[in-house]
Amino acid sequence: MSATPRTAAIVSALTIAGSDSGGGAGIQADLKTFAAHRVHGLSALAALTAQHTRGVTAVHVPDVGFLRAQIDACFDDFEVRAVKLGMLATADVIHAVADTLEQHKPRWLVLDPVMVATSGARLLEPSALDALRTRLLPLASVVTPNLPEAELLIGAPIADRDAMRAALDGLFALGARAVLLKGGHLPGDGDVVDLFAVPGAPPREIAHPRLQVDAHGTGCTLASAVAANLCLGRSLEDASIAAADYVHLALRQGYKPGRGEVLVLDHF
Ligand code: PLP
Repeated sequence: MSATPRTAAIVSALTIAGSDSGGGAGIQADLKTFAAHRVHGLSALAALTAQHTRGVTAVHVPDVGFLRAQIDACFDDFEVRAVKLGMLATADVIHAVADTLEQHKPRWLVLDPVMVATSGARLLEPSALDALRTRLLPLASVVTPNLPEAELLIGAPIADRDAMRAALDGLFALGARAVLLKGGHLPGDGDVVDLFAVPGAPPREIAHPRLQVDAHGTGCTLASAVAANLCLGRSLEDASIAAADYVHLALRQGYKPGRGEVLVLDHF
């Protein structure tokens, strides 16, 4: 029996991010998320990490010419409907990625401004923060910072729900077009409340019960789930809500594949 190819229904999402040898975060989480949403996953490796469930042991940043070749190869052949940006490591990489995206102009661009891993490992050189702020933030359809990342982007502390709302304006002032601000780092036992916002409209609260787990790869999974949902035709707001729901369920089904205590998400 011959298989019938499903060519017509397949759209592609591209992740430009870092590889996690431990399979919990980065490119590996992104590709699993795309597959779980029945979206074809493409990848361009901007950085490689030697990593397991207890931390990052080494980082390698390949030549930016090779990164451009990976991105160009994807755009030369596939219908890339959304691009997700994750760990970009250096200012040189950020400039190269911004240059190629300005050329290829993807319909949707989801920016996860990855800076420091939960384990404490630095995933972005401090000197690259300005490049991220000036080159990528204005280019992105939506940016998905957690609170420590948003604090570094706007240069102000975010200690409560009111400060989260004020931070949205700070991000808009930097040129962000839409923001999905993750509230998981606020202390307390209540719900985790993320905010989705575009300039000039009240933010939409996205609430989920707080799960008392130490998990790995949640930020990567959220941003790639937003990209996958945009590929499926959802609006930015609906894609953000669907992605937050997906992460919550993937976290509830999380498992421990290594010796570390952190959970890896189950991509159902
Ligand atoms: N490794 C890579 C390649 C990543 O991109 C990220 C986060 O974006 C991490 C590790 C850290 O993930 P987490 O902070 O969820 O452990």
